[in-house]
Amino acid sequence: METHQLILRNLKKVHSEISTACAIAERAPGSVQLVAVTKYAEPSWVQALIEAGHIDLGESRPQQLVQRSGEFSPDVHWHLIGHLQRNKVDLVLPATTLIHSVDSLRLLRKISQSAGDSATPARLLLEVNVSGEESKDGFSVPELQDGWPEILDVDDVVIEGLMTMAPRSDDPEQSRPFFRALCELRDQLVAASARDITLEQLSMGMSNDFAVAIEEGATIVRIGNRLFEGLQRAV
Ligand SMILES: *Cc1c(COP(=O)(O)O)cnc(C)c1O
Repeated sequence: METHQLILRNLKKVHSEISTACAIAERAPGSVQLVAVTKYAEPSWVQALIEAGHIDLGESRPQQLVQRSGEFSPDVHWHLIGHLQRNKVDLVLPATTLIHSVDSLRLLRKISQSAGDSATPARLLLEVNVSGEESKDGFSVPELQDGWPEILDVDDVVIEGLMTMAPRSDDPEQSRPFFRALCELRDQLVAASARDITLEQLSMGMSNDFAVAIEEGATIVRIGNRLFEGLQRAV
């Protein structure tokens, strides 16, 4: 099969598994958004996704996101899902629809400043290191709870929700407690907010554990590998 057919087949399978997970969780099928993670995808695969009508794409490296935003259709919604350094904020912000990976108050403030300068509020999610693994970026849970009033005070940003990654595992059930904890943390933060904020978006679940994430309330799943099954990267 050629690239387009493989990607169409994979997209269809993933969408159908998302629908099944929604049905199990008694959630509306349209309540979960798929972000196709293209960090390891060849340009031709990205193009095939876009031609298949899939325009929400996730990149983990700011530079690759910015570069690709200039190379593909301007209709693409680019999602930044990896670590962002403060000195790249000005570069990345104009190219990005949603930043999933805001992992410190310092970065949040830098984004606020940059968004204020361009008079366009920045849409973002706060990344939480729920598992506490040292190798992971993200606010720790206590850091987010304690810093919440200060975070809410930051202007020119729209904090739409939270993002997390579960520890690597072959068993998706191992991810469940981390996803559940993110959802509970969201409810706590909303309850502790002086102003109206819903934190509606929960970005959680990847190729191996997205069904479990949907059962636990994910509104955005970030999927790479599953969409590119059967494709060979050029070397
Ligand atoms: C790579 C990546 C994904 C996608 O992982 P797959 O296992 O390829 O589905 C999702 N989220 C983040 C933050 C990633 O870096």
